[in-house]
Amino acid sequence: MWWPRRRHDATTSRIERAEATRTRPEPGNGRKPARWVPEVSQPGIVAERRTAGGDADPRAPLAELYAALDSGPDGLATAEARSRLTGYGRNELRRQRRRGWWRELGRQVVHPLALLLWVAAALAWVAGTPLLAGAILVVIALNALFASVQERQAERAVEALTRYLPRQARVRRDGRWQEIPAAELVPGDILAVCEGDRISADARLVDGSVEVDLSALTGESQPVYRSADAPSAAGGPTEAANLVFSGTNCLGGEARALVHATGMGTELGRIAALSQRVGREESPLEKQVRRVAWLIAAVAVGAGLVFFPIGVLAAGMPIGDAFAFAIGLLVANVPEGLLPTITLALAVGVRGLARVGAVVKRLSAVETLGSTDVICTDKTGTLTENRMRVVAVRAADTLRDPAPGPGERPDPALCALAVAVAACNNADPDAGDPTEVAPLRLAADLGVTDAGHPGRRTQYPFDPKLRLMSTVDERDGRLSLHTKGAPEEVLARCTRVLAPDGGDRPLDEAYRTELAAAVTAQAEQGRRVLGVARRPLDGVPERRAEAERDLTFLGFVAMVDPPRPEVPEAVARCHTAGIRIIMVTGDHGRTAAAIARQVGIVRGEPTVVTGDQLDAMSPDRLRHLLGERREVVFARVSPEAKLHIAEALRANHEVVAMTGDGVNDAPALRRADIGVAMGRTGTDVTREAATMVLTDDNFATIVAAVAAGRRVYDNVRKFILYIFAHATPEVVPFLIFALSAGAVPLPLTVLQILAIDLGTETLPALALGREPAEPGLMDRPPRRRSDKVVNAPMLARAWGFLGLISAALVMAGFFAVLLRAGWRPGAPTGPGTPLHDAYREATTMTFLGIVSCQVGTAFAARTEHASLRSVGVFSNRLLLWGIAFEIAFAALIVGVPPAQDVFGTRPPEPVMLALLLAFPPIVWGADELRRAARRHYKHSLI
Ligand code: ADP
Ligand code: MG
Repeated sequence: MWWPRRRHDATTSRIERAEATRTRPEPGNGRKPARWVPEVSQPGIVAERRTAGGDADPRAPLAELYAALDSGPDGLATAEARSRLTGYGRNELRRQRRRGWWRELGRQVVHPLALLLWVAAALAWVAGTPLLAGAILVVIALNALFASVQERQAERAVEALTRYLPRQARVRRDGRWQEIPAAELVPGDILAVCEGDRISADARLVDGSVEVDLSALTGESQPVYRSADAPSAAGGPTEAANLVFSGTNCLGGEARALVHATGMGTELGRIAALSQRVGREESPLEKQVRRVAWLIAAVAVGAGLVFFPIGVLAAGMPIGDAFAFAIGLLVANVPEGLLPTITLALAVGVRGLARVGAVVKRLSAVETLGSTDVICTDKTGTLTENRMRVVAVRAADTLRDPAPGPGERPDPALCALAVAVAACNNADPDAGDPTEVAPLRLAADLGVTDAGHPGRRTQYPFDPKLRLMSTVDERDGRLSLHTKGAPEEVLARCTRVLAPDGGDRPLDEAYRTELAAAVTAQAEQGRRVLGVARRPLDGVPERRAEAERDLTFLGFVAMVDPPRPEVPEAVARCHTAGIRIIMVTGDHGRTAAAIARQVGIVRGEPTVVTGDQLDAMSPDRLRHLLGERREVVFARVSPEAKLHIAEALRANHEVVAMTGDGVNDAPALRRADIGVAMGRTGTDVTREAATMVLTDDNFATIVAAVAAGRRVYDNVRKFILYIFAHATPEVVPFLIFALSAGAVPLPLTVLQILAIDLGTETLPALALGREPAEPGLMDRPPRRRSDKVVNAPMLARAWGFLGLISAALVMAGFFAVLLRAGWRPGAPTGPGTPLHDAYREATTMTFLGIVSCQVGTAFAARTEHASLRSVGVFSNRLLLWGIAFEIAFAALIVGVPPAQDVFGTRPPEPVMLALLLAFPPIVWGADELRRAARRHYKHSLI
């Protein structure tokens, strides 16, 4: 029995439930068949149960099951299916409700870094400074609010990806096979299950047999055989040999199945209901940043601890003041907002990638993408358009043009070839695998069709390892085998060859050599060649190997598949970015080399390594070969070989992106750092195994994703730089105060520090996370895996350069105000003294100075190497808004009387305010010069 194969276009799995499926269920599913419906304790889901899946026992005799589900071998009518959909609900796993706002906030409030702040607030309270204690509470609250908003946005961004990967299912409705969204499956539907499908509902096989991977349900990774003919056995449902389950993968075979449970009524739904959502794993970047955050927190605590004795003993501060100050210093420098900001930056990166056609399934992938060293790519469909057109045909002895001349009648040899390719074919003239569509159209042009394959008795589907496909067909009462596939494989199984008159003759060595040369001549032009053969049969052979032998060679077709127009440029971008591209294909070596040259992957004659050579190679030898960085192309390789290539590259410490589309590619995709699946032509199984799914199957999209990964990583570094830079101008004033033993009064009050930390920094920092890509992003080699986000040069730039310049400017402003008012070192400035107003103005000047310098720093931080002009001064709108907010906030604190009382501010004179205007250009300008010098220096070195 044969029925239409599901076409894999625009079909994909859903990401969201991947989390649920990854958890192992409780062992022992030993429920009795009668109690098929599991009890579920969550109230929200119990209500759903009634509707989800019907109470039919899937292990009842088939006829009973059909009756119970009110269905039959021809499935449902669309109208009936629609009304069932309303009754049973959509075939989706309902997620556990999100954490409520309050719980989310609560989680942020007890976050470890927040706990540190709580301790500080308690200490401030105990020390008798309730104002400070209150301010710290405000810091905690604002931060928690901010963090939860960011996390929620990040979660949304990831959830929104589901939209890009709708899953399809092939069902029989109204007596026809139709592709429908998997979410619309209902009990009673007849579902087609093919190799590479992810099964979307629980179903009883009614026809055919499949091999399935049940690991999502049982944790057992050994594939199992499930067949319509298997008896219903007792035991857990997953042991029944004629049932298949939602969330599991079909690894081989074909079957039809009667859906008996959908949505939360499935076994998978039961597991999803029992196990709460698994927490999101932390990416390496987030881990590093968390470590850095703790390090800085420790430094902040240390600074506070050191300040206290110095303030009291050396500068003679009252104990209470010194204590309050120490606490303020600590609170200001604990980087509690850093982590959610990074999570959000990654999530925004993920969302951006989805828009360009790369759906990433883990936040951490964005980061890994940025460090990609090697891209191993398929040829067909990824580098090329996968639009095949037959350009030459050889039947019997003659090579000819595929288009028949006017009035020309095809000769018997050409007719025989046309019959074979039309029969041995699973495509339609306008849909299906292009490698099959093209020969099908050729046959149609020659007047040969085989629509619906009424005579087909069996098929041996295309096997990427054998590189062959065959069918057994009955025509005019005679049975024959039709085979097409890679010419070497077909020829190796041929013993005879078709003669021009339609008869046949033995295939001798000389003719074999001539044919091989003719194939090579086609392949050298980058053409894909399919050999075609046939054999008369008496009956349907038991095994494939028995069928595919003693064939008669009919000829071959040669097809062109043009490279995608955007690929050569993407390849060139990879090369300037120091990323290697290795083509790994099942196609002929010459074809592969020609295409590789056409798109610029190789320049000269590459080393072609065939699958057989690869299999004979030791892992060390392969590692060595790949380490030499020669131009190599892997051709005629099996999907398993991809796994070895990925392993060898990883053993060489390279970050590998690997594409794939077939079921057998899944292990290699898992093994690579970034497994890339095809959204259109790929199978559900590869999409499941992949880290990234290309919705357009396009190689150029991989490169765009790498660029995006680099950009996101850079931006994370930009805002860390910006946040770190203010530490120096905040700490230097205290050093001066301490070192002068109090002769210089404290240049900044506690609350002013907190205002900088919280009020003015956050928005510009966030905006830096959205910076456009810096020019030269793809002109530098990939970052090494071992590189740290926060490294010595960055700290030197933040603290030693930007920070120090800011500190100098800020202190200059502070002293300018004091000295103008007649202050001399040691003069008293406390409340009630004549200089007190001037002192308040001076501290305000310090505060405003830091804010102005941070404006300059924000512009400087926008690029790491390039000039600001090259990215455009006004190109980051968000940053401009952030800075506007920063200025408005500072003006509020300085200019509004109630705020003046709280923060101890007093507006400085206009001439001083004018001085502040010079700060940003100085800070930014200094860094601009530094960058220019670095660029120049680097160039002169090379
Ligand atoms: P690629 O890496 O180009 O996608 P495949 O593994 O799909 O390579 O195909 C390898 C070879 O198998 C092709 O060069 C072709 O000769 C043969 N082949 C591909 N598809 C089919 C098919 N549907 N039927 C018969 N032979 C095929
Ligand atoms: Mg292919």
